[in-house]
Amino acid sequence: MKIATTLTAAATLLAPTLAFTSPKQASNPLTPSKAFTLPQENGAWAPHSSHPDTRHTILPQELGVWSTSPPAGYVPPPTSHIDTRKKILEQESKGVWPTSPPPGWVCPKPEGCCAEDIREAWESYAPYSHDGRVGALGFVGCPGGGDWCYASSGAATTRSGGAPPSVSSKAQSVAAALAGLGSGMPQRSRDNSGAKKSYGIGSWKNTGTFNEVSSADSFDSLGESSWAINSNSQAPTSIKPRRPIVAGNWKLNPSTRAEAITLLKLLAANFLNNRNTNQSADTPETVIFPPLPYLSDAVEILEGTGIQVGAQDVGPNEKGAFTGEVAPSMLVSAGCSYVLLGHSERRTLFGETDEEINAKLHKSLEQPSLKVILCVGETLQEYENGLLESVVDSQIRKGLDGVDPAVLMNDRVIIAYEPVWAIGTGLVATPAQAQHAHVAIRNSLANMYDTEVAGSVRIQYGGSVTADSTEELMGENDVDGALVGGASLNADSFTRIYDGATTANARKKGNSFSDNHFQPLELTASLALATTNALGESPVWSDRDQCLYWVSATEGEVWRWDLHSQPHRRLINSAVGCVGLLQSSAPGSLIIAAESAILTTTMITPGGDPNSPIPDFASGPSFLCDRPEHMSTTRPNDGRVDRFGNFVVGMYNQYHRVGATAGENNAGLFRLNSQSLHWEEILDYRFRVSNCICFSSDGRTMYFGDTPTRTVYAFDYSPNGPLTNRRMVWTMPSNMPGGPDGAQVDANGKLWVAVTGAGRVVQLNPSTGNIEMTVHVDANPTSLTFGGQNLDELFITTRAPNGGGLYRVKMPYGIRGVPEPEFLLNVSRQ
Ligand code: PEP
Repeated sequence: MKIATTLTAAATLLAPTLAFTSPKQASNPLTPSKAFTLPQENGAWAPHSSHPDTRHTILPQELGVWSTSPPAGYVPPPTSHIDTRKKILEQESKGVWPTSPPPGWVCPKPEGCCAEDIREAWESYAPYSHDGRVGALGFVGCPGGGDWCYASSGAATTRSGGAPPSVSSKAQSVAAALAGLGSGMPQRSRDNSGAKKSYGIGSWKNTGTFNEVSSADSFDSLGESSWAINSNSQAPTSIKPRRPIVAGNWKLNPSTRAEAITLLKLLAANFLNNRNTNQSADTPETVIFPPLPYLSDAVEILEGTGIQVGAQDVGPNEKGAFTGEVAPSMLVSAGCSYVLLGHSERRTLFGETDEEINAKLHKSLEQPSLKVILCVGETLQEYENGLLESVVDSQIRKGLDGVDPAVLMNDRVIIAYEPVWAIGTGLVATPAQAQHAHVAIRNSLANMYDTEVAGSVRIQYGGSVTADSTEELMGENDVDGALVGGASLNADSFTRIYDGATTANARKKGNSFSDNHFQPLELTASLALATTNALGESPVWSDRDQCLYWVSATEGEVWRWDLHSQPHRRLINSAVGCVGLLQSSAPGSLIIAAESAILTTTMITPGGDPNSPIPDFASGPSFLCDRPEHMSTTRPNDGRVDRFGNFVVGMYNQYHRVGATAGENNAGLFRLNSQSLHWEEILDYRFRVSNCICFSSDGRTMYFGDTPTRTVYAFDYSPNGPLTNRRMVWTMPSNMPGGPDGAQVDANGKLWVAVTGAGRVVQLNPSTGNIEMTVHVDANPTSLTFGGQNLDELFITTRAPNGGGLYRVKMPYGIRGVPEPEFLLNVSRQ
């Protein structure tokens, strides 16, 4: 039985009579909706549209099918490459030759070699030639017909931003000399086998080969080892695009199987419902490396998620008397598709040698379905002594000794560059440092095999990678993925790393996600009502009443506006978290989650004109039932009526409200059953600030976010049980201020989130976590919903001090909302 209590008297005593005033627009509080700002077709948003024809012709080349004739209209530049070479040599003669020989060079003289020999070695290995630019993506060929060929690229000069990484004086002086020779990149080719060669380094952006470098950092990026390219190398004719790969190395974690299963389930949920639908050559391949005892659980729990499973090490033997060992065939039979070899912790803590690693690698490759991630990387001391190139070169040569090039071309071995000084230290390499090392590794591969192999092998960076550093690291052309230790032990961090890798890859390829617009479309909301809500929240549109309701939470006000007349409000005498529509024959009926209790009210004078607002202190509201969680440390905050007619209300940590520094996870998420009026706690953990509560149109997915965590989750929702199957939908990028506040779902299933503190509402694709639209709000937005006759306008509440008004924006492209459900109080349901 419910008890009805009238709160009117108390309200009348305590609150002064307030009339609506509009300080900003006193004469006319209603501002018509402005036309939305159309998305611009500028270069940034539509990078391919400006020169579609050129793009069309270039694309086959990007796939590796290079034409053997020069591009149409190409005229060999007037400057002879021989002249250019002379100028470079002049510069080099000023003492810029390396003092150590090219990698792999063996002194041919029995009596030993001197500096002059070394210089000659370099000269014969790396004669330069250089020419002007050809087009935006470079051209490789020997149009002059002479012995010296050249390669050049205008694209090579396009990189910008940031200081070049620690350029050696040699590199600087040579680069400076070259800068005076033309705007193209210096390129090397050679002919020490006597045959015409036609490749260069540094210009094949998007071919998958080597790197795009600017003239400022060219020599540093290439490194000295790049001077010694295998003389039998051929031009890259069929380089495959490299699919990014993100891997998580759990090391000796977590401590128990139960914890591992929890982590696996959270990971599975993040990928299963969203990211696995995107598995393609453009999205990162994903692997985790749990400890051996958890491998089978991992394989089972991750089935269907697209996440593969690997082992952190393996033995070099097949079977027999090798106590404690594990064979590659056993890993395969347990469902593994990867094995990690040569991790620096195995090298340093367990004394593993390159030879042992090589033996394990060969044994692993005997399993046709097993791939190897081979880790290489220098120590801090080696790095500081400039030994990066020689250390990784030696690790690559020894680790891959005897491995057929076809194995590498078939993507059976991935290299992980993991500088030892960055592993587990929090010292992440800068993107330029990682790029530099990856180019050095490609050069080693080119020396050992050829440029085609070097351009095909995927190289991951590892060492303190976090969700915040992934995108930038992987923005580098030769960084094809990340090997993640610590951050892979948190399902959401690892998911964010995957998302960052996806974004970086799309950006690298100049791709978009689904609509040919990488950048979100931009709209601007305009002020519709100059209310001065201290904390506007919880807008709901009533189809029945054709009006919008919302609250000013801390002022204990409920507002109503039919989009035509003056808005009006009534006072509740209690802070109000949220309102929902109440099924009733009386128009304007609402259910209110107030701090004191759950109340019902009408916003229309009972029995009167349906448009006649109830006075501020008219009778009611009525007590419906107790609020959940009887403690002063929380109060109701965000909430909505679910699509089955119940009221879901999340609580709010009062400490947070008064600005306590350390928020406590003391708030719960509850559902009020409209038949029994019983509360059920539906989330099995506690949090600080409930927000983002909204439902998919079929009511089976509920969104929720704890604002201070800046993360939004989706759950499976049933009206009869707790939330299940949590998966991360979005974590706010580190460069976006604020936190996720109120949210709503549109009829297409996209999630709209008000980002308080960031002056915007974002439309998210819950399948990808991508922001597809941004609505700018010149105030601090708090929540939103769709409204208007056709549910095709977005209404946004805001808060003081930078706001308090109601904003609106007309939706483009047929976007519309889903009618808001009503709380079915005492309505019998089937
Ligand atoms: C690793 O162990 O491979 C690793 C990169 O660790 P972390 O990310 O913790 O530095």
